[in-house]
Amino acid sequence: MRLYEHEGKVFFGKHKIPVSQGKVVTTADDAAKAASEIGFPVVIKAQILTGGRGKAGGVKIAKNEAEVKSLAAQILALTIKGYPVQKLLIEPALEIEKEIYLGVTIDRANYKLVLIGCAEGGVEIEETAKNAPGKIVKMPFEIDEPIYSYHGIEMAKRLGLSGNDLKEVAPIAVRLFNLFKKLDAKVVEINPLVRTKDGKWLAADARIALDDDALFRHPEVAEMGISVRHEEGELTAREKTAREWGIPYVDLDGDIGMFPGGAGFGILGNDFIHYYGGKPANFMDSGGGPSPERIAKMLVLLDENPNVKVIFGARFGGISRCDDFAKGVVQFLREHGLSKPMVVRMTGNKWEEGVKIFGQAKSESPDLFKKIEFHGIETPIEDISQRAVALAKMAS
Ligand code: GDP
Ligand code: MN
Repeated sequence: MRLYEHEGKVFFGKHKIPVSQGKVVTTADDAAKAASEIGFPVVIKAQILTGGRGKAGGVKIAKNEAEVKSLAAQILALTIKGYPVQKLLIEPALEIEKEIYLGVTIDRANYKLVLIGCAEGGVEIEETAKNAPGKIVKMPFEIDEPIYSYHGIEMAKRLGLSGNDLKEVAPIAVRLFNLFKKLDAKVVEINPLVRTKDGKWLAADARIALDDDALFRHPEVAEMGISVRHEEGELTAREKTAREWGIPYVDLDGDIGMFPGGAGFGILGNDFIHYYGGKPANFMDSGGGPSPERIAKMLVLLDENPNVKVIFGARFGGISRCDDFAKGVVQFLREHGLSKPMVVRMTGNKWEEGVKIFGQAKSESPDLFKKIEFHGIETPIEDISQRAVALAKMAS
């Protein structure tokens, strides 16, 4: 779960990583009010769950009230990387002399934590890592290894800092590392950590990503009013609906609606679709022995998704029986109707009953079934996957 910059800065402040005192607002008028309380010039910063705001016009400096109003309105009208800007952080503008990068994350390949620094901050670290990996300083730590002052000093030195710069930055690196561990974070990052004209260092930006599975150890997060979010940002409208209906569901960026027979097949099905050159529009889990009502709702999510060109389903009847599956599909067809082609394979527990239910419904109202291709055990799952990919290509 990612935190907004202003939330991250609260944690920074609590852990003695210097930050500016800012105010969060949602309208241009409130931005102006906040700015006059803070004092000009101010920096206006879009609060969204992704970086690259600077480049996208989401960070602007305003020198007076009229400027704040018009710039705040401009930024509030932006959508950056798919995130509509709904909140702004207003802070005193910094006179920046130098920008560096500091971050802590997990090196999964080596089972270590890693403190990362770069003498060039304010630019995307991923770009630097690709184009000039030599500029990045990495200090690995064992999971349970404490960090000491001398580690911070080593990092600061390797970033070319000396004198007062070294004295200020070294403890910030140590505190950032300890904050990472304290929060059970996945990433904590200051990009940029800046030196202002008066020689002070402070975090101009804050990026924190927490591990959702460790949230139960951090009641302070909920107490701050921070609620669980989609890994990539806020939940989409469809993900919210799915959550209300109790269906584990994630939107992806493809066009094949995945109607799985369980999480295991959901994962395998996504792999198959990719393998045959298609792209899933979602990941979904039916949640163990779903009722016909739930099956019908799962289909509603897919059929109403404008990105979905074809629905791809498979039911391996086990605890989730084929007859319940068939009842759910029929209920969906009768109540909602299918607007897209659908390829379905059904095998396993109560398969014969499932086939009977489909046969009966089809003889009563054949029109409802026009867009569906049914398969049983005789068609390998690979063939169904390829068929779904082909149908999606035909539709685009
Ligand atoms: P990001 O682009 O989403 O990472 O947003 P940042 O908060 O890192 O801001 C982007 C850039 O804006 C920084 O690298 C700085 O160069 C600049 N910036 C941010 N705050 C200030 C400020 O108070 N004064 C000045 N002059 N520049 C700022
Ligand atoms: Mn930044």
